[in-house]
Amino acid sequence: MKPLLAKFFCRVFLFFLCLSPGLWGQDSPRDSLESGPFTIFFHPEDRNRAVVVDQVLANARPRLEGFFRTTVPAGMRIELLTGLESEQQERNLPRWAGALYLTRQFRILINPPQQGAGLRGLEENLTHELVHLYTDVKLGIQQLPLWYVEGLAEYFSGETIGLGEGITLSHALAARQIMDLDAISGVLGFSANKANLAYLQSLSAVMLLRERFGADSNWQDFHDSVVISGWATAFPKYTGMEYPHFNDFWYETISGRYRWLVLFNAELLFWVMLLLGGIAGFVAVKIRTRRKLRHWAREDSEEGNWEDRFFA
Ligand SMILES: [Zn+2]
Repeated sequence: MKPLLAKFFCRVFLFFLCLSPGLWGQDSPRDSLESGPFTIFFHPEDRNRAVVVDQVLANARPRLEGFFRTTVPAGMRIELLTGLESEQQERNLPRWAGALYLTRQFRILINPPQQGAGLRGLEENLTHELVHLYTDVKLGIQQLPLWYVEGLAEYFSGETIGLGEGITLSHALAARQIMDLDAISGVLGFSANKANLAYLQSLSAVMLLRERFGADSNWQDFHDSVVISGWATAFPKYTGMEYPHFNDFWYETISGRYRWLVLFNAELLFWVMLLLGGIAGFVAVKIRTRRKLRHWAREDSEEGNWEDRFFA
């Protein structure tokens, strides 16, 4: 499994469908923990994870409330699923989902830890879903483009575009795999690889918007404006361009920034490192041999039998 894919399996996504209540073992016995307006539901063996969720909430809530300029009402639910409940969930959802947010129900479902994923994975997943929840409470998530919803959650949970992500984008550009931003609305039906690219594109688009806003306060004003007058009206007011033009602007920008990175890939870097390592080893052996010869020569000349030993 490639590292990027492994990371992706901890990833989370937004579930738009309105699911029938009572699914996924709501009637099974559960403990609960109150955390502000949130109630965390868990099975007794999951108490440690519930405590971590409580801590993540305590850290994330002030940031989210500040950024979205809103609080959330009481009655928000976070449910830690067991393996069985997670299996039931997989009948309806892609296998790559680590957690999900159910709009209208204000519920966050968190899958059992994937193999190898530690608490860091839980924190990332939960923060991502909390951004969805706050986006929903503040803006009404279903009136927004999905790329914006996912990109915002990725950005806020600390994801960024480093060299590895830039290389992924450059290869997708070269292979013409980049999709229109509006096509990202179909992410639920994507394979893991394609969904991974969709999240990365979403993040890059939100980061570009952030650049155009210039400051977080303008971004917050934009959200307030979306609440009052809707996305289509607020967008040109705060970005200087009509929304239908944004896709082309975004594509040209990422193309200019990342296309050249196609020269780099992991395999090429591996061979370059191997070659450099080989050259360094060869030089080190040469230097050591020369030093040894000099050392022997010095010993021999001191003993006065240099010529005997060397030319015998
Ligand atoms: Zn998401």
